[in-house]
Amino acid sequence: MKESIAVVGANLAGGRAAQTLRKEGFEGDIHLIGMESHPPYERPVLSKEVLLENCDPAQAYLQTEDAWEQQGIQLRLSTVVTRIHRQSRQLELSDGGLVRANKVLLCTGGRVRRLPVPGAELEGVEYLRTIDDAVAVRDRLQTGAPVVVIGGGFIGAEVAACAKLAGCEVTMLEAEEVPLWRVLGHELGGILCGIHRDQGVHVKTKTTVDRIEGNGRVTNVVTSEGERIEASTVVIGVGITPATELAEGAGLEVGNGIMVNGFCETSIPGIYAAGDVANHPNAILGGRVRLESWQNAQKQAAAAAKSMLGESKAFNDVPWFWSDQYDLNIQMSGQPDPTDSIVYRGDKSSRSFSAFFLRDGVLRSVVAFNRARDVKRTMTYIASRQILEPAQLGDESVDLRRLGD
Ligand SMILES: Cc1cc2nc3c(=O)[nH]c(=O)nc-3n(C[C@H](O)[C@H](O)[C@H](O)COP(=O)(O)OP(=O)(O)OC[C@H]3O[C@@H](n4cnc5c(N)ncnc54)[C@H](O)[C@@H]3O)c2cc1C
Repeated sequence: MKESIAVVGANLAGGRAAQTLRKEGFEGDIHLIGMESHPPYERPVLSKEVLLENCDPAQAYLQTEDAWEQQGIQLRLSTVVTRIHRQSRQLELSDGGLVRANKVLLCTGGRVRRLPVPGAELEGVEYLRTIDDAVAVRDRLQTGAPVVVIGGGFIGAEVAACAKLAGCEVTMLEAEEVPLWRVLGHELGGILCGIHRDQGVHVKTKTTVDRIEGNGRVTNVVTSEGERIEASTVVIGVGITPATELAEGAGLEVGNGIMVNGFCETSIPGIYAAGDVANHPNAILGGRVRLESWQNAQKQAAAAAKSMLGESKAFNDVPWFWSDQYDLNIQMSGQPDPTDSIVYRGDKSSRSFSAFFLRDGVLRSVVAFNRARDVKRTMTYIASRQILEPAQLGDESVDLRRLGD
Protein backbone atom coordinates (compact mmCIF):
# COMPACT_ATOMS: atom_id res chain seq x y z
CA MET A 1 0.00 0.00 0.00
CA LYS A 2 1.14 3.53 -0.77
CA GLU A 3 2.63 5.42 2.16
CA SER A 4 0.79 8.52 3.26
CA ILE A 5 1.55 11.63 5.27
CA ALA A 6 -1.07 13.98 6.72
CA VAL A 7 -0.23 17.61 7.40
CA VAL A 8 -2.68 19.39 9.70
CA GLY A 9 -2.83 23.15 9.21
CA ALA A 10 -2.54 24.45 5.67
CA ASN A 11 -0.66 27.67 6.08
CA LEU A 12 2.99 28.64 5.84
CA ALA A 13 4.50 25.75 7.79
CA GLY A 14 2.03 23.15 6.49
CA GLY A 15 2.38 24.35 2.90
CA ARG A 16 6.18 24.43 2.97
CA ALA A 17 6.29 20.98 4.55
CA ALA A 18 4.06 19.49 1.84
CA GLN A 19 6.15 21.13 -0.90
CA THR A 20 9.36 19.85 0.70
CA LEU A 21 8.04 16.28 0.89
CA ARG A 22 7.50 16.29 -2.86
CA LYS A 23 10.77 18.08 -3.58
CA GLU A 24 12.62 15.47 -1.56
CA GLY A 25 11.11 12.71 -3.66
CA PHE A 26 8.29 11.40 -1.47
CA GLU A 27 5.92 9.58 -3.81
CA GLY A 28 3.16 8.61 -1.38
CA ASP A 29 -0.08 10.44 -0.63
CA ILE A 30 0.14 13.88 0.96
CA HIS A 31 -2.98 15.20 2.68
CA LEU A 32 -2.77 18.91 3.51
CA ILE A 33 -5.78 19.83 5.64
CA GLY A 34 -6.63 23.32 6.81
CA MET A 35 -9.62 25.06 8.33
CA GLU A 36 -9.23 28.32 6.40
CA SER A 37 -10.88 28.75 3.01
CA HIS A 38 -7.71 30.14 1.41
CA PRO A 39 -4.87 28.00 0.10
CA PRO A 40 -1.63 28.30 2.14
CA TYR A 41 -0.35 31.89 2.31
CA GLU A 42 2.21 34.12 3.96
CA ARG A 43 0.92 36.40 6.69
CA PRO A 44 3.59 39.18 6.89
CA VAL A 45 2.10 41.21 4.00
CA LEU A 46 -1.26 41.30 5.79
CA SER A 47 -0.13 43.93 8.31
CA LYS A 48 1.92 45.82 5.74
CA GLU A 49 1.21 45.92 1.99
CA VAL A 50 -2.37 44.60 2.23
CA LEU A 51 -3.40 47.27 4.78
CA LEU A 52 -1.72 49.91 2.63
CA GLU A 53 -3.63 48.60 -0.41
CA ASN A 54 -0.32 47.94 -2.18
CA CYS A 55 -1.01 44.26 -2.66
CA ASP A 56 -3.90 42.03 -3.57
CA PRO A 57 -4.27 39.49 -0.73
CA ALA A 58 -4.11 36.65 -3.27
CA GLN A 59 -0.48 37.61 -3.90
CA ALA A 60 0.26 36.17 -0.45
CA TYR A 61 -0.60 32.63 -1.60
CA LEU A 62 2.41 30.28 -1.64
CA GLN A 63 1.22 29.00 -5.02
CA THR A 64 -2.05 28.63 -6.93
CA GLU A 65 -4.59 25.96 -6.04
CA ASP A 66 -3.82 24.30 -9.37
CA ALA A 67 -0.14 23.99 -8.46
CA TRP A 68 -1.03 21.94 -5.37
CA GLU A 69 -3.01 19.62 -7.57
CA GLN A 70 -0.21 19.34 -10.11
CA GLN A 71 2.17 18.33 -7.32
CA GLY A 72 -0.26 15.63 -6.26
CA ILE A 73 -0.87 17.26 -2.90
CA GLN A 74 -4.43 16.69 -1.71
CA LEU A 75 -5.36 20.09 -0.35
CA ARG A 76 -8.55 20.08 1.73
CA LEU A 77 -9.60 23.59 2.71
CA SER A 78 -12.36 24.72 5.10
CA THR A 79 -11.85 21.43 6.93
CA VAL A 80 -11.06 21.06 10.61
CA VAL A 81 -9.20 18.03 11.90
CA THR A 82 -11.24 17.31 15.01
CA ARG A 83 -9.38 14.31 16.42
CA ILE A 84 -6.23 12.28 15.96
CA HIS A 85 -6.13 8.62 16.98
CA ARG A 86 -2.51 8.33 17.92
CA GLN A 87 -2.16 4.56 17.59
CA SER A 88 -3.85 4.15 14.22
CA ARG A 89 -2.79 7.66 13.04
CA GLN A 90 -6.30 8.16 11.82
CA LEU A 91 -7.60 11.71 11.54
CA GLU A 92 -11.26 12.63 11.99
CA LEU A 93 -12.44 15.56 9.90
CA SER A 94 -15.23 18.10 10.44
CA ASP A 95 -16.92 16.98 7.20
CA GLY A 96 -17.22 13.46 8.59
CA GLY A 97 -14.27 12.18 6.57
CA LEU A 98 -11.42 10.05 7.86
CA VAL A 99 -7.80 10.18 6.76
CA ARG A 100 -5.39 7.38 7.55
CA ALA A 101 -1.71 8.27 7.53
CA ASN A 102 1.60 6.62 8.31
CA LYS A 103 2.94 9.89 9.68
CA VAL A 104 1.31 13.11 10.82
CA LEU A 105 2.73 16.64 10.94
CA LEU A 106 0.97 19.22 13.09
CA CYS A 107 1.29 22.79 11.80
CA THR A 108 -1.70 24.21 13.61
CA GLY A 109 0.00 27.55 14.41
CA GLY A 110 -1.63 29.98 16.75
CA ARG A 111 -4.81 31.94 17.18
CA VAL A 112 -5.28 35.45 18.45
CA ARG A 113 -5.62 36.00 22.14
CA ARG A 114 -9.02 37.59 22.79
CA LEU A 115 -9.23 40.66 24.99
CA PRO A 116 -11.63 39.82 27.83
CA VAL A 117 -13.27 43.23 28.24
CA PRO A 118 -16.91 44.29 27.83
CA GLY A 119 -17.65 45.52 24.32
CA ALA A 120 -14.97 43.43 22.58
CA GLU A 121 -17.74 41.83 20.46
CA LEU A 122 -18.98 45.15 19.01
CA GLU A 123 -18.89 45.72 15.26
CA GLY A 124 -15.68 47.49 14.33
CA VAL A 125 -13.54 45.62 16.87
CA GLU A 126 -11.06 43.61 14.84
CA TYR A 127 -8.12 41.23 15.25
CA LEU A 128 -5.47 40.53 12.62
CA ARG A 129 -4.36 37.01 11.83
CA THR A 130 -5.97 35.88 8.58
CA ILE A 131 -6.47 37.28 5.09
CA ASP A 132 -10.14 37.86 5.90
CA ASP A 133 -9.17 39.82 9.03
CA ALA A 134 -6.73 41.95 7.01
CA VAL A 135 -9.34 42.77 4.35
CA ALA A 136 -11.84 43.74 7.09
CA VAL A 137 -9.29 46.03 8.78
CA ARG A 138 -8.11 47.51 5.48
CA ASP A 139 -11.64 48.47 4.47
CA ARG A 140 -12.08 50.38 7.71
CA LEU A 141 -8.93 52.52 7.43
CA GLN A 142 -10.60 55.58 5.93
CA THR A 143 -8.99 59.03 6.01
CA GLY A 144 -9.78 60.83 9.25
CA ALA A 145 -11.30 57.76 10.94
CA PRO A 146 -10.46 57.47 14.64
CA VAL A 147 -8.64 54.16 15.10
CA VAL A 148 -7.52 52.71 18.42
CA VAL A 149 -4.89 49.97 18.39
CA ILE A 150 -4.75 47.93 21.58
CA GLY A 151 -1.30 46.41 22.10
CA GLY A 152 2.05 47.83 21.06
CA GLY A 153 3.68 44.58 19.89
CA PHE A 154 4.88 44.09 16.33
CA ILE A 155 1.39 43.55 14.88
CA GLY A 156 -0.09 46.50 16.79
CA ALA A 157 2.80 48.76 15.79
CA GLU A 158 2.51 47.76 12.11
CA VAL A 159 -1.26 48.32 12.12
CA ALA A 160 -0.79 51.72 13.79
CA ALA A 161 1.77 52.68 11.12
CA CYS A 162 -0.51 51.61 8.25
CA ALA A 163 -3.53 53.33 9.76
CA LYS A 164 -1.53 56.53 10.14
CA LEU A 165 -0.26 56.31 6.57
CA ALA A 166 -3.87 55.82 5.45
CA GLY A 167 -4.72 59.17 7.09
CA CYS A 168 -6.49 57.87 10.19
CA GLU A 169 -6.39 59.50 13.61
CA VAL A 170 -4.50 56.79 15.49
CA THR A 171 -4.14 56.01 19.20
CA MET A 172 -2.01 53.08 20.32
CA LEU A 173 -2.50 51.73 23.84
CA GLU A 174 0.31 49.79 25.47
CA ALA A 175 0.20 48.26 28.95
CA GLU A 176 3.97 48.43 29.53
CA GLU A 177 6.26 51.45 29.86
CA VAL A 178 7.15 51.39 26.16
CA PRO A 179 5.99 49.34 23.15
CA LEU A 180 7.83 46.02 22.82
CA TRP A 181 9.42 46.49 26.21
CA ARG A 182 9.58 42.75 26.86
CA VAL A 183 11.36 42.04 23.55
CA LEU A 184 13.50 45.11 22.98
CA GLY A 185 13.91 46.61 26.43
CA HIS A 186 13.43 50.15 27.58
CA GLU A 187 15.77 52.10 25.33
CA LEU A 188 14.93 50.48 21.98
CA GLY A 189 11.23 50.38 22.84
CA GLY A 190 11.47 54.07 23.70
CA ILE A 191 13.04 54.87 20.33
CA LEU A 192 10.25 52.99 18.56
CA CYS A 193 7.69 54.86 20.64
CA GLY A 194 9.33 58.15 19.56
CA ILE A 195 9.10 57.13 15.90
CA HIS A 196 5.35 56.55 16.21
CA ARG A 197 4.83 59.79 18.10
CA ASP A 198 6.79 61.74 15.47
CA GLN A 199 4.42 60.33 12.88
CA GLY A 200 1.47 61.67 14.87
CA VAL A 201 0.29 58.48 16.59
CA HIS A 202 -0.98 59.13 20.12
CA VAL A 203 0.93 56.46 22.04
CA LYS A 204 -0.42 55.94 25.54
CA THR A 205 1.84 53.71 27.60
CA LYS A 206 1.16 52.05 30.97
CA THR A 207 -2.44 52.07 29.81
CA THR A 208 -4.88 49.19 29.90
CA VAL A 209 -8.45 48.95 28.66
CA ASP A 210 -11.44 48.83 30.97
CA ARG A 211 -14.15 48.48 28.30
CA ILE A 212 -15.12 49.19 24.75
CA GLU A 213 -18.34 51.16 24.27
CA GLY A 214 -20.81 51.46 21.44
CA ASN A 215 -24.34 50.90 20.34
CA GLY A 216 -23.95 47.85 18.15
CA ARG A 217 -20.92 49.55 16.61
CA VAL A 218 -17.85 50.66 18.53
CA THR A 219 -17.70 54.35 19.45
CA ASN A 220 -15.16 54.59 22.28
CA VAL A 221 -12.45 52.79 24.18
CA VAL A 222 -12.39 53.52 27.90
CA THR A 223 -9.05 53.08 29.64
CA SER A 224 -8.58 51.80 33.20
CA GLU A 225 -7.87 55.40 34.22
CA GLY A 226 -11.30 56.35 32.89
CA GLU A 227 -10.16 58.20 29.76
CA ARG A 228 -12.66 57.84 26.92
CA ILE A 229 -11.04 57.68 23.45
CA GLU A 230 -13.16 57.99 20.32
CA ALA A 231 -12.91 55.01 17.94
CA SER A 232 -14.77 53.91 14.82
CA THR A 233 -12.35 50.97 14.58
CA VAL A 234 -10.43 49.10 17.24
CA VAL A 235 -7.70 46.66 16.32
CA ILE A 236 -6.58 44.33 19.09
CA GLY A 237 -3.08 42.85 18.90
CA VAL A 238 -2.30 41.23 22.23
CA GLY A 239 -0.55 38.11 21.04
CA ILE A 240 -1.47 34.57 20.09
CA THR A 241 -1.87 31.28 21.87
CA PRO A 242 -0.55 28.10 20.25
CA ALA A 243 -3.29 25.86 18.84
CA THR A 244 -2.49 22.75 20.86
CA GLU A 245 -5.93 21.29 21.58
CA LEU A 246 -5.67 18.61 18.91
CA ALA A 247 -2.29 17.53 20.26
CA GLU A 248 -3.58 17.55 23.82
CA GLY A 249 -6.54 15.41 22.79
CA ALA A 250 -4.15 12.90 21.26
CA GLY A 251 -2.10 12.75 24.48
CA LEU A 252 1.00 14.47 23.12
CA GLU A 253 3.27 16.35 25.49
CA VAL A 254 2.26 19.99 25.45
CA GLY A 255 3.65 22.98 27.34
CA ASN A 256 4.03 26.36 25.72
CA GLY A 257 3.24 24.72 22.37
CA ILE A 258 3.68 21.13 21.27
CA MET A 259 6.92 19.72 22.63
CA VAL A 260 9.19 18.33 19.92
CA ASN A 261 12.74 17.01 19.90
CA GLY A 262 15.55 18.26 17.66
CA PHE A 263 14.06 16.33 14.75
CA CYS A 264 10.62 17.95 15.13
CA GLU A 265 9.13 14.72 16.46
CA THR A 266 6.60 14.92 19.30
CA SER A 267 6.43 12.67 22.35
CA ILE A 268 4.54 10.15 20.17
CA PRO A 269 6.75 8.58 17.46
CA GLY A 270 5.48 9.24 13.95
CA ILE A 271 3.74 12.49 14.92
CA TYR A 272 5.70 15.68 14.26
CA ALA A 273 5.09 19.41 14.73
CA ALA A 274 6.54 22.59 13.20
CA GLY A 275 5.98 26.34 12.98
CA ASP A 276 4.36 28.68 15.49
CA VAL A 277 2.88 25.77 17.43
CA ALA A 278 6.11 23.82 17.99
CA ASN A 279 8.32 24.18 21.04
CA HIS A 280 11.79 22.95 20.14
CA PRO A 281 15.21 22.67 21.77
CA ASN A 282 17.59 25.18 20.19
CA ALA A 283 21.26 24.56 20.93
CA ILE A 284 22.25 28.02 19.70
CA LEU A 285 19.89 29.75 22.09
CA GLY A 286 20.68 27.23 24.79
CA GLY A 287 17.13 26.21 25.66
CA ARG A 288 13.63 25.44 24.45
CA VAL A 289 11.81 28.03 22.36
CA ARG A 290 8.55 28.48 20.54
CA LEU A 291 9.08 31.02 17.79
CA GLU A 292 6.41 33.02 16.00
CA SER A 293 8.18 33.99 12.82
CA TRP A 294 8.04 33.56 9.08
CA GLN A 295 11.59 32.22 8.85
CA ASN A 296 11.09 29.64 11.57
CA ALA A 297 7.78 28.42 10.10
CA GLN A 298 9.40 27.87 6.70
CA LYS A 299 12.66 26.32 7.81
CA GLN A 300 11.35 24.17 10.63
CA ALA A 301 8.60 22.83 8.40
CA ALA A 302 11.17 21.86 5.77
CA ALA A 303 13.32 20.24 8.48
CA ALA A 304 10.30 18.32 9.82
CA ALA A 305 9.47 17.05 6.32
CA LYS A 306 13.02 15.78 5.88
CA SER A 307 12.99 14.14 9.31
CA MET A 308 9.78 12.34 8.36
CA LEU A 309 11.59 10.99 5.33
CA GLY A 310 14.41 9.66 7.49
CA GLU A 311 17.01 12.43 7.50
CA SER A 312 18.68 12.61 10.91
CA LYS A 313 19.75 16.23 11.06
CA ALA A 314 18.66 18.26 14.05
CA PHE A 315 16.94 21.56 13.33
CA ASN A 316 19.05 24.37 14.72
CA ASP A 317 18.80 27.83 13.34
CA VAL A 318 19.53 31.38 14.42
CA PRO A 319 16.08 32.97 14.68
CA TRP A 320 15.49 35.89 12.35
CA PHE A 321 12.57 38.29 12.23
CA TRP A 322 11.69 41.56 10.55
CA SER A 323 9.09 44.28 10.80
CA ASP A 324 8.30 47.30 8.60
CA GLN A 325 6.76 50.44 10.04
CA TYR A 326 6.68 53.68 7.95
CA ASP A 327 10.15 53.86 6.40
CA LEU A 328 11.64 51.91 9.28
CA ASN A 329 12.85 48.36 8.70
CA ILE A 330 13.60 46.47 11.90
CA GLN A 331 15.55 43.23 11.69
CA MET A 332 16.32 40.98 14.57
CA SER A 333 18.48 37.88 14.89
CA GLY A 334 18.79 35.59 17.89
CA GLN A 335 16.50 36.31 20.82
CA PRO A 336 17.08 39.68 22.44
CA ASP A 337 17.07 39.67 26.21
CA PRO A 338 16.88 43.20 27.63
CA THR A 339 18.94 42.07 30.65
CA ASP A 340 21.97 41.41 28.39
CA SER A 341 24.53 44.20 27.96
CA ILE A 342 23.91 46.21 24.81
CA VAL A 343 26.52 47.77 22.51
CA TYR A 344 25.34 50.23 19.86
CA ARG A 345 26.79 50.88 16.41
CA GLY A 346 25.57 53.88 14.44
CA ASP A 347 23.58 56.91 15.38
CA LYS A 348 20.49 56.31 17.49
CA SER A 349 19.15 59.80 16.82
CA SER A 350 19.23 59.23 13.05
CA ARG A 351 17.36 55.96 13.61
CA SER A 352 19.88 53.99 11.61
CA PHE A 353 21.77 51.86 14.09
CA SER A 354 22.27 48.38 15.43
CA ALA A 355 22.11 47.07 18.98
CA PHE A 356 24.27 44.06 19.86
CA PHE A 357 23.10 42.03 22.85
CA LEU A 358 25.98 40.30 24.66
CA ARG A 359 26.24 38.02 27.64
CA ASP A 360 29.71 37.23 29.00
CA GLY A 361 31.13 38.57 25.74
CA VAL A 362 29.05 36.18 23.60
CA LEU A 363 26.85 37.80 20.97
CA ARG A 364 23.32 36.52 21.50
CA SER A 365 21.18 38.82 19.45
CA VAL A 366 21.22 41.81 17.10
CA VAL A 367 18.42 44.32 16.58
CA ALA A 368 18.94 46.69 13.66
CA PHE A 369 16.91 49.77 12.79
CA ASN A 370 17.39 50.42 9.06
CA ARG A 371 20.71 48.53 9.02
CA ALA A 372 19.78 45.07 7.79
CA ARG A 373 23.31 44.31 6.68
CA ASP A 374 24.61 44.41 10.28
CA VAL A 375 22.25 41.55 11.08
CA LYS A 376 23.30 39.55 8.06
CA ARG A 377 26.98 40.03 8.81
CA THR A 378 26.75 38.87 12.42
CA MET A 379 24.44 35.83 12.23
CA THR A 380 27.42 33.47 12.07
CA TYR A 381 28.84 34.86 15.33
CA ILE A 382 25.54 34.11 17.06
CA ALA A 383 25.53 30.60 15.62
CA SER A 384 29.13 29.92 16.69
CA ARG A 385 28.66 31.59 20.11
CA GLN A 386 31.90 33.44 19.57
CA ILE A 387 33.24 35.81 22.21
CA LEU A 388 33.54 39.28 20.67
CA GLU A 389 35.16 42.53 21.67
CA PRO A 390 32.40 45.05 22.48
CA ALA A 391 34.58 47.99 21.39
CA GLN A 392 34.94 46.46 17.91
CA LEU A 393 31.21 45.89 17.60
CA GLY A 394 30.58 49.53 18.39
CA ASP A 395 33.30 50.92 16.13
CA GLU A 396 31.96 51.85 12.68
CA SER A 397 35.45 51.65 11.19
CA VAL A 398 35.66 47.93 11.96
CA ASP A 399 34.22 45.62 9.30
CA LEU A 400 31.70 43.37 11.04
CA ARG A 401 32.71 40.50 8.77
CA ARG A 402 36.25 40.60 10.18
CA LEU A 403 35.60 40.50 13.92
CA GLY A 404 37.90 38.17 15.80
CA ASP A 405 40.46 38.07 12.93
C1 LIG B 1 -0.41 39.92 10.43
C2 LIG B 1 0.86 39.15 10.64
C3 LIG B 1 2.07 39.71 10.25
C4 LIG B 1 3.26 39.02 10.44
N1 LIG B 1 4.43 39.60 10.06
C5 LIG B 1 5.59 38.95 10.26
C6 LIG B 1 6.82 39.56 9.89
O1 LIG B 1 6.88 40.69 9.42
N2 LIG B 1 7.98 38.85 10.08
C7 LIG B 1 7.96 37.58 10.59
O2 LIG B 1 9.03 36.98 10.74
N3 LIG B 1 6.80 36.98 10.95
C8 LIG B 1 5.62 37.63 10.81
N4 LIG B 1 4.44 37.05 11.17
C9 LIG B 1 4.46 35.69 11.77
C10 LIG B 1 4.34 34.59 10.71
O3 LIG B 1 3.40 34.93 9.76
C11 LIG B 1 3.94 33.31 11.42
O4 LIG B 1 5.02 32.95 12.24
C12 LIG B 1 3.61 32.17 10.45
O5 LIG B 1 2.45 32.47 9.75
C13 LIG B 1 3.42 30.86 11.20
O6 LIG B 1 3.00 29.87 10.30
P1 LIG B 1 2.35 28.52 10.80
O7 LIG B 1 1.97 27.80 9.54
O8 LIG B 1 3.22 27.86 11.78
O9 LIG B 1 1.04 28.91 11.61
P2 LIG B 1 -0.30 29.65 11.11
O10 LIG B 1 0.05 30.72 10.14
O11 LIG B 1 -1.03 30.05 12.37
O12 LIG B 1 -1.12 28.53 10.39
C14 LIG B 1 -1.75 27.48 11.07
C15 LIG B 1 -2.95 27.04 10.26
O13 LIG B 1 -3.48 25.87 10.84
C16 LIG B 1 -4.89 25.92 10.81
N5 LIG B 1 -5.41 24.99 11.82
C17 LIG B 1 -5.27 25.06 13.16
N6 LIG B 1 -5.87 24.00 13.77
C18 LIG B 1 -6.41 23.25 12.78
C19 LIG B 1 -7.17 22.04 12.76
N7 LIG B 1 -7.48 21.40 13.88
N8 LIG B 1 -7.57 21.57 11.56
C20 LIG B 1 -7.27 22.22 10.41
N9 LIG B 1 -6.55 23.36 10.38
C21 LIG B 1 -6.12 23.87 11.54
C22 LIG B 1 -5.17 27.39 11.08
O14 LIG B 1 -6.46 27.74 10.65
C23 LIG B 1 -4.07 28.07 10.26
O15 LIG B 1 -4.48 28.32 8.95
C24 LIG B 1 3.23 37.72 11.02
C25 LIG B 1 2.01 37.17 11.43
C26 LIG B 1 0.84 37.88 11.25
C27 LIG B 1 -0.47 37.31 11.73
